[in-house]
Amino acid sequence: MTHSAAPQGEKKTNLLGMTEEELRKFFEEIGEAPYRGKQIFSWIYKKQISDFTPVTGFTKELRARLSEVAGIGYPEVVSAEESPTDGTTKLLLQLEDGNKIETVLIPREKSPDDEGSLRETVCVSTQVGCPLDCKFCATGAMKFTRNLTAAEVIGQVFIAQRYARKRVTNVVFMGMGEPLLNHETVSKVIRLLTDDSSVNIRARGITVSTAGIAEKLTLIAKDPVKFRLAISLHSLDDEVRSLLMPINRKYSLAQLLPAVREFYMLRRDRITFEYILFDGLNDTNADVARLTKLSRDIPLKINLLRYHPLDHLSRLGLEVDPVAHNLRPSARIEEFADRLRSNGITVFVRSNSGEDIDGACGQLAAKNARRTRKPKVNT
Ligand code: SF4
Repeated sequence: MTHSAAPQGEKKTNLLGMTEEELRKFFEEIGEAPYRGKQIFSWIYKKQISDFTPVTGFTKELRARLSEVAGIGYPEVVSAEESPTDGTTKLLLQLEDGNKIETVLIPREKSPDDEGSLRETVCVSTQVGCPLDCKFCATGAMKFTRNLTAAEVIGQVFIAQRYARKRVTNVVFMGMGEPLLNHETVSKVIRLLTDDSSVNIRARGITVSTAGIAEKLTLIAKDPVKFRLAISLHSLDDEVRSLLMPINRKYSLAQLLPAVREFYMLRRDRITFEYILFDGLNDTNADVARLTKLSRDIPLKINLLRYHPLDHLSRLGLEVDPVAHNLRPSARIEEFADRLRSNGITVFVRSNSGEDIDGACGQLAAKNARRTRKPKVNT
């Protein structure tokens, strides 16, 4: 692809999301010196410019020429909803094709496992909608539209950083979509975020959370890019897990857990398992015993989460009795955590950051989509 001046009405090349190598190639293709790619890389990712005006190392003519064929395109902020209780902010963003996604900014959360340091976390989406249909997730109720591009994923981090006016220290791939179904983009964005000529986020500040696509896990384990892994587990009983997460019918625990173990053996970094508690469904003594057995096989920690109440609770209620499997009060979550801890497992009871603004995965965009779509009837 060549990049002569984009004729009127033709799409300009978005330089956001490109690696340094891709930028060098781009400059070469427009007849400029490839080292310009290295220069612009730092302006795009370190200084996070939105246009070429501030690029002092370029002549006026080069900046004008560049503006004719290229741009630095970010998603557009449609709305921002801030929790009055914990400051969590949910940004609804519109993409170039009109699709909407969400990004959540979790300010100054104390890190429970990182020497208590303070952090500024951004939770990013990787897909528009999600094909996996987890029954506790609002995004799962939306139809899957497409994977996000690298520009759309890294753009979320930079927009959140601008909004917060603080340096982002942590990025979690835990928003709308299954990251491992867009793993090439996710891998590229992590490389860009951890590059020391870019925002230089440390690898331990990056977490990829997956519902458990076993074969992709095996693939990404061998990727040199560094990040921490979280598995959305919720049960170690295939029947219960399949009820909550239909993907478990395709990748059962017998496939998933060896892939997780292999990931650990290659990376030697403790894996986080996320576990939403439902009364009587996944909190029995047998569940404690299964989790304990797993902890002896794979070094792990468990994040216990409270289910966020929403009107899509009925999705779950169609298959799981909503009365019997109601929200757990905090004391009961602590009691389950203590049972695990007494077996030597590291457990964190996660705060409900943003619960009052529906700050869980997919909930704001799903709400927005529900205004324009016919509600999906769960089958
Ligand atoms: S929990 Fe994650 S993987 Fe499951 S439907 Fe929601 S976005 Fe998709």
